[in-house]
Amino acid sequence: MDCIFCRIVAGEIPSHKVYEDDMTLAFLDIHPAARGHTLVIPKQHVADLLSADPLDLEATVRGSQVVARILHKHLQADGINVVQNNGTAAGQDVFHYHVHLIPRWTGDQAIRSWRPGETDHAALGSLAAELRAAEGT
Ligand code: AMP
Ligand code: ZN
Repeated sequence: MDCIFCRIVAGEIPSHKVYEDDMTLAFLDIHPAARGHTLVIPKQHVADLLSADPLDLEATVRGSQVVARILHKHLQADGINVVQNNGTAAGQDVFHYHVHLIPRWTGDQAIRSWRPGETDHAALGSLAAELRAAEGT
């Protein structure tokens, strides 16, 4: 088994567990962007959002909500970013689906966001139509 998160699920390597249920596990990120930065994963190995079983996605969202509430209340976070990377181009380093929960406090500089682009309704309208037509193809 060469998946590091599967090895954590199997107890072969240690983690700082925050939460666990039948289908999901949550543990602290070893390179935290902020105090309480937690990863929530399905116990079942799935590489990413594109290939995941919807039942694993659903379980991971449910687990994420439980953990987000704990972080929000216990660490008095003002907000929480949910970050989820898919593919190398998107910054995914570990190819076992995982959701980052990053507590935020007003004024912190924990993570940078994207630069908003220009609004072009004509381009947005035709792209949305193209994407609707592509559903199921
Ligand atoms: P990503 O770039 O979205 O694939 O995120 C992978 C995350 O996993 C990074 O934030 C790493 O710090 C974290 N990570 C890698 N190995 C471990 C580990 N053994 N325990 C906890 N977090 C880890
Ligand atoms: Zn895995």
